[in-house]
Amino acid sequence: MNYKNALQHNIFKIISQSAKQLNLDCYVIGGFVRDYLLQRGLTKDIDIVAIGDGIKLALQVAKNLPNKPKVQVFKTYGTAMLIYDDIEIEFVGARKESYNETSRNPVVENGTLQDDQNRRDFTINALALNLNESCFGELLDPFNGIQDLKDKIIRTPLNPDITYSDDPLRMMRAIRFSTQLNFNIEQTSLKAISKNKHRIQIITNERIVVELNKILESKKPSFGFILLEETGLLDYILPELTALKGIDEVEGQRHKDNFYHTLEVVDNISENTTDLWLRWAALLHDIGKAPTKKFSKKVGWTFHGHEFQGSKMVYHLFKRLKMPLNDKMKFVQKMVLMSSRPIVLANDEVTDSAVRRLVFDAGEFVDDLMTLCEADITTKNPKKFEKYHNNFKIVREKIIEVEERDHVRNFQPPISGEEIMQTFNLKPSKEIGIIKESIKEAILEGDIPNEHEAAYQLMLKEGKRLGLTVNN
Ligand code: ATP
Repeated sequence: MNYKNALQHNIFKIISQSAKQLNLDCYVIGGFVRDYLLQRGLTKDIDIVAIGDGIKLALQVAKNLPNKPKVQVFKTYGTAMLIYDDIEIEFVGARKESYNETSRNPVVENGTLQDDQNRRDFTINALALNLNESCFGELLDPFNGIQDLKDKIIRTPLNPDITYSDDPLRMMRAIRFSTQLNFNIEQTSLKAISKNKHRIQIITNERIVVELNKILESKKPSFGFILLEETGLLDYILPELTALKGIDEVEGQRHKDNFYHTLEVVDNISENTTDLWLRWAALLHDIGKAPTKKFSKKVGWTFHGHEFQGSKMVYHLFKRLKMPLNDKMKFVQKMVLMSSRPIVLANDEVTDSAVRRLVFDAGEFVDDLMTLCEADITTKNPKKFEKYHNNFKIVREKIIEVEERDHVRNFQPPISGEEIMQTFNLKPSKEIGIIKESIKEAILEGDIPNEHEAAYQLMLKEGKRLGLTVNN
Protein backbone atom coordinates (compact mmCIF):
# COMPACT_ATOMS: atom_id res chain seq x y z
CA MET A 1 0.00 0.00 0.00
CA ASN A 2 1.15 3.52 -0.70
CA TYR A 3 0.40 6.45 1.56
CA LYS A 4 2.03 9.32 -0.32
CA ASN A 5 -0.85 11.48 0.80
CA ALA A 6 0.36 11.30 4.38
CA LEU A 7 3.64 12.84 3.28
CA GLN A 8 2.48 16.04 1.62
CA HIS A 9 4.33 18.34 3.98
CA ASN A 10 7.49 19.56 2.27
CA ILE A 11 9.62 18.37 5.19
CA PHE A 12 9.31 14.78 3.95
CA LYS A 13 10.70 15.63 0.51
CA ILE A 14 13.60 17.43 2.14
CA ILE A 15 14.34 14.49 4.45
CA SER A 16 14.15 12.14 1.47
CA GLN A 17 16.59 14.27 -0.56
CA SER A 18 18.94 14.62 2.40
CA ALA A 19 18.99 10.84 2.88
CA LYS A 20 19.79 10.40 -0.79
CA GLN A 21 22.73 12.80 -0.49
CA LEU A 22 24.06 10.69 2.38
CA ASN A 23 23.25 7.49 0.57
CA LEU A 24 21.12 6.01 3.31
CA ASP A 25 17.56 4.77 3.65
CA CYS A 26 15.09 6.36 6.01
CA TYR A 27 11.50 5.99 7.16
CA VAL A 28 8.89 7.86 9.14
CA ILE A 29 7.70 5.60 11.93
CA GLY A 30 5.46 5.38 15.00
CA GLY A 31 2.91 7.90 16.20
CA PHE A 32 2.82 10.00 13.04
CA VAL A 33 1.87 7.06 10.84
CA ARG A 34 -0.57 5.67 13.40
CA ASP A 35 -2.32 8.99 13.89
CA TYR A 36 -2.50 9.65 10.14
CA LEU A 37 -4.20 6.30 9.59
CA LEU A 38 -6.57 6.97 12.48
CA GLN A 39 -7.22 10.45 11.08
CA ARG A 40 -6.46 11.91 14.47
CA GLY A 41 -4.85 14.86 12.76
CA LEU A 42 -2.97 16.20 15.72
CA THR A 43 0.57 15.00 15.26
CA LYS A 44 3.14 17.62 16.03
CA ASP A 45 5.90 15.01 16.41
CA ILE A 46 7.57 13.11 13.63
CA ASP A 47 9.95 10.22 14.27
CA ILE A 48 12.43 9.41 11.55
CA VAL A 49 14.48 6.26 11.58
CA ALA A 50 17.60 6.12 9.42
CA ILE A 51 19.39 2.97 8.42
CA GLY A 52 22.71 4.45 9.41
CA ASP A 53 23.61 7.58 11.32
CA GLY A 54 20.46 9.43 12.47
CA ILE A 55 22.42 12.42 13.76
CA LYS A 56 24.16 12.93 10.43
CA LEU A 57 20.82 12.83 8.68
CA ALA A 58 19.40 15.45 11.04
CA LEU A 59 22.35 17.76 10.35
CA GLN A 60 21.96 17.29 6.61
CA VAL A 61 18.23 18.02 6.79
CA ALA A 62 18.89 21.20 8.79
CA LYS A 63 21.37 22.31 6.13
CA ASN A 64 18.78 21.79 3.41
CA LEU A 65 15.97 23.60 5.21
CA PRO A 66 15.43 27.25 4.26
CA ASN A 67 15.62 28.53 7.87
CA LYS A 68 18.62 26.33 8.87
CA PRO A 69 17.20 25.31 12.25
CA LYS A 70 19.36 24.38 15.17
CA VAL A 71 19.86 20.66 15.69
CA GLN A 72 19.80 19.35 19.23
CA VAL A 73 22.04 16.32 19.46
CA PHE A 74 21.70 13.70 22.20
CA LYS A 75 24.94 11.79 21.74
CA THR A 76 24.31 9.19 24.46
CA TYR A 77 21.07 8.13 22.80
CA GLY A 78 22.32 8.54 19.24
CA THR A 79 19.38 10.81 18.48
CA ALA A 80 18.91 14.35 17.21
CA MET A 81 15.98 16.74 17.09
CA LEU A 82 15.06 19.82 15.18
CA ILE A 83 11.96 21.96 14.98
CA TYR A 84 10.57 23.03 11.64
CA ASP A 85 7.20 24.66 11.03
CA ASP A 86 6.25 23.96 14.68
CA ILE A 87 6.83 20.26 14.16
CA GLU A 88 9.33 18.42 16.34
CA ILE A 89 11.29 16.02 14.19
CA GLU A 90 13.34 13.38 15.90
CA PHE A 91 16.00 11.36 14.11
CA VAL A 92 17.43 8.05 15.23
CA GLY A 93 19.55 5.36 13.63
CA ALA A 94 17.80 1.98 13.32
CA ARG A 95 18.60 -0.10 16.37
CA LYS A 96 18.61 -3.62 17.54
CA GLU A 97 18.03 -3.90 21.25
CA SER A 98 18.64 -6.83 23.53
CA TYR A 99 17.83 -6.85 27.19
CA ASN A 100 19.27 -9.04 29.88
CA GLU A 101 18.00 -9.87 33.35
CA THR A 102 20.60 -7.92 35.28
CA SER A 103 20.46 -4.51 33.63
CA ARG A 104 17.55 -2.19 33.06
CA ASN A 105 19.16 -0.73 29.96
CA PRO A 106 19.30 -2.72 26.76
CA VAL A 107 22.41 -3.48 24.78
CA VAL A 108 21.98 -1.41 21.64
CA GLU A 109 23.52 -2.17 18.26
CA ASN A 110 22.97 -0.75 14.80
CA GLY A 111 20.25 -2.64 13.03
CA THR A 112 17.91 -2.94 10.08
CA LEU A 113 14.47 -1.42 9.79
CA GLN A 114 13.01 -4.78 10.81
CA ASP A 115 15.23 -4.84 13.94
CA ASP A 116 14.00 -1.38 14.77
CA GLN A 117 10.37 -2.30 14.27
CA ASN A 118 10.87 -5.33 16.54
CA ARG A 119 11.88 -3.11 19.42
CA ARG A 120 8.75 -0.95 19.15
CA ASP A 121 6.13 -1.31 21.82
CA PHE A 122 2.98 -2.03 19.84
CA THR A 123 2.11 -3.20 16.35
CA ILE A 124 0.24 0.06 15.74
CA ASN A 125 3.37 1.99 16.73
CA ALA A 126 5.67 -0.03 14.47
CA LEU A 127 4.10 1.13 11.20
CA ALA A 128 6.60 2.85 8.94
CA LEU A 129 6.38 4.77 5.66
CA ASN A 130 9.27 4.66 3.25
CA LEU A 131 10.88 8.03 2.51
CA ASN A 132 13.27 6.76 -0.16
CA GLU A 133 12.68 8.32 -3.55
CA SER A 134 11.96 5.09 -5.40
CA CYS A 135 9.22 3.87 -3.04
CA PHE A 136 8.16 7.12 -1.38
CA GLY A 137 5.06 6.53 0.77
CA GLU A 138 5.17 2.74 0.78
CA LEU A 139 3.91 1.19 4.01
CA LEU A 140 6.09 -1.28 5.92
CA ASP A 141 3.93 -3.18 8.33
CA PRO A 142 5.55 -6.45 9.40
CA PHE A 143 3.11 -7.19 12.24
CA ASN A 144 -0.13 -6.33 10.50
CA GLY A 145 -0.60 -3.22 12.59
CA ILE A 146 -3.08 -1.99 9.99
CA GLN A 147 -5.43 -4.80 10.94
CA ASP A 148 -4.99 -4.01 14.63
CA LEU A 149 -5.84 -0.39 13.91
CA LYS A 150 -9.02 -1.54 12.21
CA ASP A 151 -9.86 -3.99 14.99
CA LYS A 152 -8.90 -1.43 17.65
CA ILE A 153 -6.39 -3.69 19.34
CA ILE A 154 -3.23 -2.99 21.29
CA ARG A 155 -0.79 -5.84 20.66
CA THR A 156 2.96 -6.13 21.14
CA PRO A 157 5.03 -7.14 18.11
CA LEU A 158 6.91 -9.81 20.06
CA ASN A 159 6.04 -11.95 23.08
CA PRO A 160 4.22 -9.57 25.47
CA ASP A 161 5.74 -11.18 28.54
CA ILE A 162 9.21 -10.28 27.32
CA THR A 163 8.17 -6.92 25.90
CA TYR A 164 6.71 -5.75 29.22
CA SER A 165 9.39 -7.24 31.38
CA ASP A 166 12.11 -5.61 29.22
CA ASP A 167 10.62 -2.15 29.58
CA PRO A 168 7.80 -2.09 32.14
CA LEU A 169 6.78 1.45 31.17
CA ARG A 170 5.16 -0.23 28.15
CA MET A 171 2.47 -1.57 30.50
CA MET A 172 1.47 1.97 31.32
CA ARG A 173 1.71 2.92 27.65
CA ALA A 174 -0.56 0.05 26.65
CA ILE A 175 -3.21 1.24 29.07
CA ARG A 176 -2.69 4.86 28.08
CA PHE A 177 -3.08 4.19 24.34
CA SER A 178 -6.05 1.96 25.00
CA THR A 179 -7.70 4.80 26.95
CA GLN A 180 -6.82 7.55 24.46
CA LEU A 181 -7.82 5.55 21.39
CA ASN A 182 -10.61 3.49 22.91
CA PHE A 183 -8.82 0.27 21.90
CA ASN A 184 -8.79 -3.07 23.68
CA ILE A 185 -5.61 -4.62 24.93
CA GLU A 186 -5.26 -8.07 23.45
CA GLN A 187 -5.87 -10.82 26.03
CA THR A 188 -2.39 -12.38 26.30
CA SER A 189 -0.99 -8.89 26.53
CA LEU A 190 -3.36 -8.02 29.35
CA LYS A 191 -2.38 -11.19 31.21
CA ALA A 192 1.28 -10.36 30.70
CA ILE A 193 0.71 -6.94 32.28
CA SER A 194 -0.88 -8.55 35.35
CA LYS A 195 2.01 -10.97 35.56
CA ASN A 196 4.69 -8.31 35.25
CA LYS A 197 2.98 -5.59 37.27
CA HIS A 198 5.63 -5.61 40.00
CA ARG A 199 8.24 -4.63 37.41
CA ILE A 200 6.69 -1.14 37.28
CA GLN A 201 8.70 -0.42 40.42
CA ILE A 202 11.88 -0.04 38.38
CA ILE A 203 10.38 2.81 36.35
CA THR A 204 10.94 6.37 37.50
CA ASN A 205 7.94 8.19 38.89
CA GLU A 206 8.35 11.02 36.42
CA ARG A 207 7.76 8.66 33.48
CA ILE A 208 4.80 7.04 35.20
CA VAL A 209 3.22 10.44 35.80
CA VAL A 210 3.56 11.35 32.11
CA GLU A 211 1.36 8.35 31.31
CA LEU A 212 -1.03 9.00 34.20
CA ASN A 213 -1.51 12.55 32.98
CA LYS A 214 -2.28 11.34 29.48
CA ILE A 215 -4.86 8.92 30.87
CA LEU A 216 -6.38 11.72 32.92
CA GLU A 217 -6.43 14.02 29.89
CA SER A 218 -8.33 11.56 27.75
CA LYS A 219 -12.04 11.63 27.11
CA LYS A 220 -13.02 8.89 29.55
CA PRO A 221 -10.23 8.48 32.10
CA SER A 222 -12.09 5.76 34.05
CA PHE A 223 -11.34 3.37 31.19
CA GLY A 224 -7.64 3.59 32.01
CA PHE A 225 -7.99 3.57 35.78
CA ILE A 226 -10.14 0.45 35.67
CA LEU A 227 -7.44 -1.26 33.59
CA LEU A 228 -4.76 -0.08 35.98
CA GLU A 229 -6.79 -1.50 38.84
CA GLU A 230 -7.66 -4.80 37.15
CA THR A 231 -4.07 -5.49 36.17
CA GLY A 232 -2.87 -4.64 39.67
CA LEU A 233 -0.67 -1.73 38.54
CA LEU A 234 -2.70 0.82 40.46
CA ASP A 235 -1.72 -0.74 43.77
CA TYR A 236 1.88 0.15 43.04
CA ILE A 237 1.21 3.61 41.66
CA LEU A 238 -1.72 5.05 43.59
CA PRO A 239 -2.49 2.81 46.58
CA GLU A 240 -4.53 5.70 48.02
CA LEU A 241 -7.09 5.00 45.31
CA THR A 242 -7.27 1.23 45.62
CA ALA A 243 -7.75 1.72 49.37
CA LEU A 244 -11.13 3.24 48.47
CA LYS A 245 -12.31 0.02 46.88
CA GLY A 246 -15.03 -2.10 48.34
CA ILE A 247 -18.25 -1.78 50.24
CA ASP A 248 -18.45 -2.62 53.92
CA GLU A 249 -21.61 -3.67 55.59
CA VAL A 250 -22.31 -3.58 59.31
CA GLU A 251 -25.74 -4.25 60.71
CA GLY A 252 -27.29 -3.90 57.31
CA GLN A 253 -25.72 -0.48 56.68
CA ARG A 254 -23.52 -0.08 53.65
CA HIS A 255 -21.49 2.78 52.24
CA LYS A 256 -20.84 3.31 48.55
CA ASP A 257 -17.73 1.99 46.80
CA ASN A 258 -15.65 5.13 46.84
CA PHE A 259 -13.25 3.91 44.19
CA TYR A 260 -15.89 3.52 41.49
CA HIS A 261 -17.60 6.66 42.73
CA THR A 262 -14.32 8.53 42.26
CA LEU A 263 -13.98 7.25 38.71
CA GLU A 264 -17.48 8.43 37.92
CA VAL A 265 -16.60 11.85 39.27
CA VAL A 266 -13.48 11.97 37.09
CA ASP A 267 -15.48 11.05 33.99
CA ASN A 268 -18.15 13.60 34.85
CA ILE A 269 -15.66 16.40 35.33
CA SER A 270 -13.89 15.48 32.10
CA GLU A 271 -17.04 16.43 30.24
CA ASN A 272 -16.80 19.93 31.65
CA THR A 273 -13.12 20.74 31.87
CA THR A 274 -9.86 19.95 30.14
CA ASP A 275 -7.89 21.31 33.09
CA LEU A 276 -5.52 18.51 34.13
CA TRP A 277 -5.27 19.73 37.72
CA LEU A 278 -8.98 19.93 38.22
CA ARG A 279 -9.13 16.37 36.93
CA TRP A 280 -6.44 15.42 39.45
CA ALA A 281 -8.55 17.06 42.15
CA ALA A 282 -11.51 14.92 41.10
CA LEU A 283 -9.34 11.81 41.21
CA LEU A 284 -8.09 12.58 44.69
CA HIS A 285 -11.10 14.30 46.23
CA ASP A 286 -12.08 11.31 48.37
CA ILE A 287 -8.70 9.75 49.23
CA GLY A 288 -9.09 10.84 52.84
CA LYS A 289 -12.09 8.54 53.15
CA ALA A 290 -10.10 5.34 53.59
CA PRO A 291 -8.18 6.43 56.70
CA THR A 292 -11.14 8.24 58.29
CA LYS A 293 -13.80 5.60 57.76
CA LYS A 294 -15.71 4.64 60.92
CA PHE A 295 -18.91 2.91 61.81
CA SER A 296 -21.13 3.97 64.67
CA LYS A 297 -24.41 2.40 65.63
CA LYS A 298 -26.08 5.78 65.85
CA VAL A 299 -25.14 7.35 62.53
CA GLY A 300 -23.78 4.48 60.46
CA TRP A 301 -20.72 5.04 58.27
CA THR A 302 -18.85 8.30 58.66
CA PHE A 303 -15.74 9.82 57.12
CA HIS A 304 -15.26 12.76 59.46
CA GLY A 305 -12.50 15.13 58.43
CA HIS A 306 -11.74 13.22 55.25
CA GLU A 307 -11.34 16.45 53.32
CA PHE A 308 -8.59 17.70 55.63
CA GLN A 309 -6.94 14.30 55.77
CA GLY A 310 -7.21 14.05 51.99
CA SER A 311 -5.59 17.42 51.40
CA LYS A 312 -2.64 16.37 53.55
CA MET A 313 -2.37 13.14 51.60
CA VAL A 314 -2.24 15.11 48.35
CA TYR A 315 1.08 16.59 49.43
CA HIS A 316 2.60 13.19 50.25
CA LEU A 317 1.29 11.69 47.05
CA PHE A 318 2.68 14.50 44.88
CA LYS A 319 6.00 14.23 46.69
CA ARG A 320 6.21 10.48 46.26
CA LEU A 321 5.40 10.68 42.55
CA LYS A 322 7.88 13.54 42.09
CA MET A 323 5.11 15.79 40.86
CA PRO A 324 5.58 19.55 41.16
CA LEU A 325 5.10 20.82 44.73
CA ASN A 326 3.95 24.18 43.47
CA ASP A 327 0.74 26.18 42.96
CA LYS A 328 -0.82 23.29 41.08
CA MET A 329 -0.39 21.04 44.08
CA LYS A 330 -1.81 23.72 46.35
CA PHE A 331 -4.75 24.09 44.01
CA VAL A 332 -5.47 20.34 44.19
CA GLN A 333 -5.14 20.47 47.98
CA LYS A 334 -7.56 23.36 48.19
CA MET A 335 -10.10 21.63 45.99
CA VAL A 336 -9.88 18.45 48.10
CA LEU A 337 -10.10 20.42 51.33
CA MET A 338 -13.17 22.32 50.19
CA SER A 339 -14.79 19.53 48.22
CA SER A 340 -17.76 19.13 50.58
CA ARG A 341 -18.49 22.80 51.18
CA PRO A 342 -20.92 23.46 48.33
CA ILE A 343 -22.62 20.10 48.93
CA VAL A 344 -23.52 21.16 52.44
CA LEU A 345 -24.94 24.33 50.92
CA ALA A 346 -26.95 22.45 48.36
CA ASN A 347 -28.52 20.29 51.06
CA ASP A 348 -29.81 23.25 53.03
CA GLU A 349 -31.34 26.49 52.07
CA VAL A 350 -28.82 28.60 50.22
CA THR A 351 -28.22 31.70 52.32
CA ASP A 352 -26.31 34.75 51.15
CA SER A 353 -23.86 34.60 54.00
CA ALA A 354 -22.99 30.95 53.35
CA VAL A 355 -22.35 31.78 49.70
CA ARG A 356 -20.29 34.80 50.67
CA ARG A 357 -18.13 32.61 52.92
CA LEU A 358 -17.73 30.06 50.18
CA VAL A 359 -16.56 32.70 47.71
CA PHE A 360 -14.26 34.20 50.33
CA ASP A 361 -12.63 30.86 51.16
CA ALA A 362 -12.39 29.53 47.60
CA GLY A 363 -11.28 32.90 46.19
CA GLU A 364 -10.43 32.78 42.50
CA PHE A 365 -11.11 29.02 42.42
CA VAL A 366 -14.77 29.13 43.33
CA ASP A 367 -15.90 28.23 39.80
CA ASP A 368 -13.53 25.25 39.70
CA LEU A 369 -14.86 24.14 43.06
CA MET A 370 -18.42 24.28 41.78
CA THR A 371 -17.41 22.27 38.71
CA LEU A 372 -15.88 19.64 40.99
CA CYS A 373 -18.93 19.48 43.22
CA GLU A 374 -21.33 19.19 40.33
CA ALA A 375 -19.25 16.28 39.02
CA ASP A 376 -19.47 14.73 42.49
CA ILE A 377 -23.21 14.20 42.09
CA THR A 378 -23.34 10.53 41.17
CA THR A 379 -26.60 9.56 42.85
CA LYS A 380 -28.69 7.13 40.83
CA ASN A 381 -31.86 8.53 42.35
CA PRO A 382 -33.24 10.86 39.64
CA LYS A 383 -35.13 13.01 42.12
CA LYS A 384 -32.07 13.64 44.26
CA PHE A 385 -29.95 14.15 41.14
CA GLU A 386 -32.25 16.89 39.95
CA LYS A 387 -32.56 18.46 43.37
CA TYR A 388 -28.79 18.69 43.87
CA HIS A 389 -28.18 20.09 40.40
CA ASN A 390 -30.92 22.64 40.89
CA ASN A 391 -29.48 23.68 44.21
CA PHE A 392 -26.05 24.09 42.66
CA LYS A 393 -27.63 26.21 39.96
CA ILE A 394 -29.00 28.44 42.67
CA VAL A 395 -25.59 28.51 44.38
CA ARG A 396 -23.96 29.54 41.10
CA GLU A 397 -26.51 32.32 40.59
CA LYS A 398 -26.04 33.49 44.14
CA ILE A 399 -22.28 33.51 43.68
CA ILE A 400 -22.66 35.95 40.80
CA GLU A 401 -25.11 38.07 42.74
CA VAL A 402 -23.01 38.19 45.90
CA GLU A 403 -19.89 38.83 43.87
CA GLU A 404 -21.40 41.78 42.07
CA ARG A 405 -22.50 43.30 45.32
CA ASP A 406 -19.80 42.45 47.80
CA HIS A 407 -16.64 41.63 45.82
CA VAL A 408 -15.37 39.08 48.29
CA ARG A 409 -13.63 36.81 45.76
CA ASN A 410 -10.29 38.51 46.15
CA PHE A 411 -11.11 40.07 49.46
CA GLN A 412 -9.11 43.14 50.41
CA PRO A 413 -10.19 44.57 53.76
CA PRO A 414 -11.77 48.02 53.22
CA ILE A 415 -9.91 49.29 56.29
CA SER A 416 -6.20 48.61 56.57
CA GLY A 417 -4.27 47.94 59.75
CA GLU A 418 -2.47 51.20 59.06
CA GLU A 419 -5.72 53.16 59.17
CA ILE A 420 -6.77 51.47 62.43
CA MET A 421 -3.41 52.38 64.00
CA GLN A 422 -3.70 55.99 62.91
CA THR A 423 -7.31 56.33 64.02
CA PHE A 424 -6.64 55.12 67.55
CA ASN A 425 -3.02 56.15 67.76
CA LEU A 426 -1.96 52.55 68.27
CA LYS A 427 1.32 50.70 67.88
CA PRO A 428 1.12 47.22 66.32
CA SER A 429 -1.03 45.27 68.78
CA LYS A 430 -3.64 42.58 69.04
CA GLU A 431 -6.51 45.11 69.01
CA ILE A 432 -5.79 45.77 65.33
CA GLY A 433 -6.30 42.09 64.57
CA ILE A 434 -9.51 42.01 66.58
CA ILE A 435 -10.96 44.99 64.73
CA LYS A 436 -9.94 43.66 61.33
CA GLU A 437 -11.48 40.29 62.11
CA SER A 438 -14.82 41.82 63.22
CA ILE A 439 -14.97 43.87 60.02
CA LYS A 440 -14.30 40.78 57.92
CA GLU A 441 -16.89 38.76 59.84
CA ALA A 442 -19.50 41.49 59.54
CA ILE A 443 -18.96 41.67 55.78
CA LEU A 444 -19.14 37.90 55.36
CA GLU A 445 -22.25 37.71 57.52
CA GLY A 446 -23.81 40.46 55.44
CA ASP A 447 -24.20 42.78 58.43
CA ILE A 448 -22.36 45.54 56.59
CA PRO A 449 -21.51 46.03 52.91
CA ASN A 450 -17.92 45.61 51.76
CA GLU A 451 -17.37 49.37 51.67
CA HIS A 452 -15.09 51.81 53.41
CA GLU A 453 -17.67 54.00 55.14
CA ALA A 454 -19.59 51.11 56.71
CA ALA A 455 -16.36 49.45 57.78
CA TYR A 456 -15.13 52.75 59.23
CA GLN A 457 -18.23 53.09 61.40
CA LEU A 458 -17.84 49.52 62.63
CA MET A 459 -14.18 50.18 63.42
CA LEU A 460 -15.18 53.14 65.62
CA LYS A 461 -17.78 51.01 67.39
CA GLU A 462 -15.35 48.18 67.97
CA GLY A 463 -12.67 50.60 69.16
CA LYS A 464 -15.06 52.00 71.71
CA ARG A 465 -15.91 48.48 72.90
CA LEU A 466 -12.21 47.81 73.36
CA GLY A 467 -11.76 51.02 75.32
CA LEU A 468 -9.72 52.79 72.61
CA THR A 469 -9.85 56.54 72.07
CA VAL A 470 -9.91 58.24 68.73
CA ASN A 471 -6.85 60.26 67.81
CA ASN A 472 -7.84 63.88 67.08
P1 ATP B 1 2.25 10.18 21.67
O1 ATP B 1 2.85 11.33 20.96
O2 ATP B 1 0.79 10.19 21.80
O3 ATP B 1 2.92 9.85 22.97
P2 ATP B 1 3.84 8.40 20.09
O4 ATP B 1 3.55 7.03 19.53
O5 ATP B 1 4.40 9.40 19.16
O6 ATP B 1 2.50 8.90 20.74
P3 ATP B 1 6.23 8.59 21.63
O7 ATP B 1 6.39 8.38 23.08
O8 ATP B 1 6.56 9.91 21.04
O9 ATP B 1 4.74 8.18 21.32
O10 ATP B 1 7.08 7.47 20.92
C1 ATP B 1 7.32 7.46 19.52
C2 ATP B 1 7.46 6.02 19.05
O11 ATP B 1 8.57 5.40 19.71
C3 ATP B 1 6.25 5.15 19.40
O12 ATP B 1 5.25 5.23 18.41
C4 ATP B 1 6.88 3.78 19.48
O13 ATP B 1 7.10 3.25 18.19
C5 ATP B 1 8.26 4.06 20.06
N1 ATP B 1 8.32 3.93 21.52
C6 ATP B 1 8.17 4.91 22.44
N2 ATP B 1 8.33 4.46 23.68
C7 ATP B 1 8.58 3.15 23.58
C8 ATP B 1 8.84 2.11 24.51
N3 ATP B 1 8.86 2.34 25.82
N4 ATP B 1 9.10 0.86 24.01
C9 ATP B 1 9.09 0.64 22.70
N5 ATP B 1 8.85 1.56 21.77
C10 ATP B 1 8.59 2.80 22.18
